[in-house]
Amino acid sequence: MEDEKIAKMTEMLLGGGKMLSVHCGACKGPLFEFRGKVVCPVCGEKAEAIKAEAKPKAAPAEKVESVLRTKLNSLAEQLEKETDHAKTLELLDLIKSILETLEKLKEG
Ligand SMILES: [Zn+2]
Repeated sequence: MEDEKIAKMTEMLLGGGKMLSVHCGACKGPLFEFRGKVVCPVCGEKAEAIKAEAKPKAAPAEKVESVLRTKLNSLAEQLEKETDHAKTLELLDLIKSILETLEKLKEG
């Protein structure tokens, strides 16, 4: 069964189809755009996309931001205690990178 699915997907790709980020509601396989239509290689043209599954599963920016802020706090504490010049510069460099990343998150 799995081999059959893969064979049909390959066939569709070779025929000029494009794999989409949405999945088939019936077989959960990826849907393809083929000749201007959304088609499931297994179920055919009647396939309906599960729209909810099109959402990205990557960590949202807020999560990344909160991790970076926690890191920033601990680096600031280390910086306060640090007496070695080389290590101080190293910490400042890290802090600068984190602040730059936070800026980029706000822009995006
Ligand atoms: Zn299907």
